Amino acid sequence: MKKPFITDIQKYSLHDGEGIRTTVFFKGCPLSCVWCHNPETKQYQKQLMFMADSCTGCGCCLKACPKKAISIKEGIAVTDKGTCNACGICRDYCLQNIRELSGKYYTVQELVKEIEKDKIFYENSQGGVTLSGGEVLTQELVFLEELLCTLHGKGYRINIDTSGYAPYQVFERILPYVHTFLYDLKLLDPEVHKKYTGTDNLLIKENLKKLSAEKASIWIRIPVIGGVNASDYSLRQIAEFLAAENISFQQINLLPYHNTGSSKYKRLQKNYEGEEFFTPSEEEMKSYKSIFKQYGFQKVIIGG
Ligand code: SF4
Ligand code: SF4
Ligand code: SF4
Repeated sequence: MKKPFITDIQKYSLHDGEGIRTTVFFKGCPLSCVWCHNPETKQYQKQLMFMADSCTGCGCCLKACPKKAISIKEGIAVTDKGTCNACGICRDYCLQNIRELSGKYYTVQELVKEIEKDKIFYENSQGGVTLSGGEVLTQELVFLEELLCTLHGKGYRINIDTSGYAPYQVFERILPYVHTFLYDLKLLDPEVHKKYTGTDNLLIKENLKKLSAEKASIWIRIPVIGGVNASDYSLRQIAEFLAAENISFQQINLLPYHNTGSSKYKRLQKNYEGEEFFTPSEEEMKSYKSIFKQYGFQKVIIGG
């Protein structure tokens, strides 16, 4: 297990469960979805992000870097990712403020203090705290248990946004503290799942069956991605699986794909491989919703 880093603490979030919530994004994920709109949460280590378009080529960062990881090419700074250790020193020397570090370590106490700043909103809206990522359930378990135990002890309703790709023992350990699992199902076919996410989905399906048998509160979340799974065939496969396995859950959210994370790939000096993906139309989303209704699922919501 790795030391946990946080990429963002999003206040006043309305899409990660009931009420007004604070959502904490953990860094690191065992999957590598091609469409991921939080690419800075894929890697467990801290990372340098950089807006090349605004670089003046002044060279101040280059002189400051103790690892000599920066060079100027064609008038802009280029960082050798293999040499950079994400120390963050260069940020302080960039007058353009275009170098930033993704990933900050918090102790449990520091994180709880930050989360508690908005407790009045949770209390008045039946909201709470959502832990997201990346994959929360692959973070250091001692840290995770202490965080959950502390927040639960203070009476906060905690949701876990998960890909489902973690040992079931982790689910068992945290189950007593969790209000609702926001459980992603992306594709049913293991080979196609592997093609787009880097792993097959056998563990994800098995964990969902076990969680359901435990009568955990579950919201099924399906990203609907044009060019990947936005088809009657793919979504019917998911509906059939949920029905055949008698999975018990509170609701299904069909989440239309949006290309919102593509600029972050540039800041990480990575190529975005999802350029050909597209957002399904409103009509298409309604027709996908009707597939789940045909299987008798009552609460099917388009959006988060
Ligand atoms: S983060 Fe540190 S090692 Fe990386 S480029 Fe900046 S100063 Fe150099
Ligand atoms: S200090 Fe900032 S503006 Fe100057 S070269 Fe480095 S990244 Fe570019
Ligand atoms: S599971 Fe989520 S965080 Fe992980 S790579 Fe896929 S979309 Fe990104």
